[in-house]
Amino acid sequence: MARLGGCPGLGRLLEKVRGDPEVELSEVGPPEFDVPQFSRWPLPLDMWPLWPLLVEKGFRPRAYVAKPRSRGAVERIVEAAAEAGACLVPRGGGSNVVGASPPLGCCLILDLRMLDKILWFSGEDLVVHVEAGAVVSKVEEWLNRRGYTLGYHPQSQSLATVGGSIAMLGSGALAPGLGNIEDMVLWLETVIPGLGTVTLGSRNSPRGWEGPGVKHLFIGSEGSLGVVVSAGLRVRPLPEFTGALAYRLPGFREGLEAARRLTLWRGARLLRLLDPSEASMLYGVDGAVLMVEVEAPDRGLLEAMEGYVEKVASASGGSRVEGVYEKWARARYMYDEHVRQLWSAGLWVDTIDTAAPWSRVEDLNRRLLEDLAGIPGVVAVMSHAGHFYSGGASLYHTVVMERRLDTYWRVWSRVAEAVRQLGASITHQHGWGLLRKPYLGFLGGNYRVFCRVKNTLDPGNVLNPNGISSRCSRVG
Ligand SMILES: Cc1cc2nc3c(=O)[nH]c(=O)nc-3n(C[C@H](O)[C@H](O)[C@H](O)COP(=O)(O)OP(=O)(O)OC[C@H]3O[C@@H](n4cnc5c(N)ncnc54)[C@H](O)[C@@H]3O)c2cc1C
Repeated sequence: MARLGGCPGLGRLLEKVRGDPEVELSEVGPPEFDVPQFSRWPLPLDMWPLWPLLVEKGFRPRAYVAKPRSRGAVERIVEAAAEAGACLVPRGGGSNVVGASPPLGCCLILDLRMLDKILWFSGEDLVVHVEAGAVVSKVEEWLNRRGYTLGYHPQSQSLATVGGSIAMLGSGALAPGLGNIEDMVLWLETVIPGLGTVTLGSRNSPRGWEGPGVKHLFIGSEGSLGVVVSAGLRVRPLPEFTGALAYRLPGFREGLEAARRLTLWRGARLLRLLDPSEASMLYGVDGAVLMVEVEAPDRGLLEAMEGYVEKVASASGGSRVEGVYEKWARARYMYDEHVRQLWSAGLWVDTIDTAAPWSRVEDLNRRLLEDLAGIPGVVAVMSHAGHFYSGGASLYHTVVMERRLDTYWRVWSRVAEAVRQLGASITHQHGWGLLRKPYLGFLGGNYRVFCRVKNTLDPGNVLNPNGISSRCSRVG
């Protein structure tokens, strides 16, 4: 690779890694995007929607990729990188949509997908210990065959790995009932430069034994503090009875009112509120749509729960709609076809995940729908609220646009302006990456403390230096 001349640290690292029988080394790129498909996105890129636009404009990234076969090999690569003054970009499924594992600078990509074993499982203790490169849906299928579930269902479950989900603070569709990834990680094992592999959290206690909860620093650290090699995850038995209901409501406000009551009840495992923009575009429904899933160990209890959902929805002016939930459930993991169609029509798409307290969710939803639709080059905007908490909800706006860089960046600066003015958060589950680098200041003291931790744990800046920690040098 010609650019190795400008990357002496990488050259030294490759010399060491080349002789390791437990590491596969290859050179990848430049990528082609004839018709982009998320299931076949080319290395070295992750799935940030900006990359195909840049490739169209002549961006030709190349990179070296190391695939370790064992935890020992990961430890050797991390130590070799620290000694060589080189950097590493940990990588799972590459499905993050924010440029969190960017193929920039002189870094070696550390592809962890060969660490994909289920190490240990206990149905009695309700825990599975799994290697970080295991794909979420594969772990789920393995558990389902034994009558258990992770209860973690991001739309990207067939792409995302366990390690990538932890590193990105991922969130699945059942978050209202079962929590997010941070609620599922009992412990994790991570390789830190100079420290080797450490176990954070506890294998022996269902909660709280570990004192100040250091493991949480790594959940959402986007590959910048340590390489997660395995995790102990909470599992649960598959539910015996489940039910799904969908209601048409007069508008987003009424839907939000019902969703709030159901959230505070804590009985729904899935809540999804479609704004009329999305309900009409995807399902031809005039009004908002609220979808609800419930589960119970007993049929009578399930029926009582469904009765309560019906009562809450009716009180907000809701009436049952047939077929919408079923259509959504059938297509919920199928994104390639939509992406292919948009690209073929000369268009492109990005999704915007924000969150706000109850008092501001409706304003934020409306503001983003209106502001983004007014940007030249934006073709359509639709939204739904996907995750609900006692304090508020997350929003998900889908923006279809012409393939123009100016349109792309104007969309994001409008989003930043809206969340700053209204008092909301600029990401709920997608994370920061390169995309939100200009807005890291929104993190305030969180970022200053994170940078102290980064500078202490990884003084050589070995791990993902171009990602979320890339502004730490300015923070000091
Ligand atoms: C169609 C589609 C739908 C999506 N839906 C959802 C959704 O419903 N919910 C959701 O939360 N996200 C969603 N995402 C985003 C994405 O799937 C998540 O961010 C996911 O958690 C990334 O996992 P990954 O294994 O692909 O990680 P990667 O993209 O490979 O990496 C993500 C980050 O984690 C770091 N990393 C990866 N593995 C490790 C490791 N073992 N140790 C340390 N750091 C590591 C990388 O350096 C990088 O910074 C979606 C993406 C797509 C394309």
